[in-house]
Amino acid sequence: MNAATLRRLEALEARALDEQRRREEAACGVLLATMAPEHVALVRAASPAYFSAPEGIEANREPLVARLLRVRPPALVRAALMLLAWHLTEGRPLTLPDYVAEVYVNDPDALPGRACDACGYCMPLRGRLLPSGDIEEEEADLEYVGPCPVCAGYRNGQGEAAS
Ligand SMILES: [Zn+2]
Repeated sequence: MNAATLRRLEALEARALDEQRRREEAACGVLLATMAPEHVALVRAASPAYFSAPEGIEANREPLVARLLRVRPPALVRAALMLLAWHLTEGRPLTLPDYVAEVYVNDPDALPGRACDACGYCMPLRGRLLPSGDIEEEEADLEYVGPCPVCAGYRNGQGEAAS
C-alpha cells in the first residue's frame, strides 16, 4: 500500500469515527432529554467518563458488554448505556422516563431486557448480564410490568396514570 492510499484510508477512518461520535452524542442528548433531572444527575455523577468524554461510547473499541462487566456501573447507568447501544446498533427507541428509571434506581439487578413486541424498546427485568451480551433472567418479583413507555407515550410524571 503506498503512502497516498494509506493517508486516504486514515482520513476515511477518521471521518467515520467523527460521524459515529456525532451519532452517539446526538443519541445521548435525545435519551437524557427524556429523563427526569434527578436521574440525569445520577447518570452524570456516576459515569462522567461515559457521558461526557469526547471518545464517545464505541470509540475506545472496548465492547460495551465487556466494559459493563468490568466497570459494573449502577443499574441506572448500565440501563442508559444499553439503551444507547441498542439504539445505535439496532434502531431501538430511546427513552427513560422517571417511572422506568426508578425501577433501575431501586433494583441493582434490573436490566433493560424485555423487548416490547410492538416497538422493540427494552423494559426492565431482573437478571444477570452475561459476557455474551445475553441476559440470564432471574425469577423475579420485581419485574416491570409495563406499559411500554414508547407505545404508551407516557413521559415523566405520567407513569402513575398508567398503573
Ligand atoms: Zn413499545
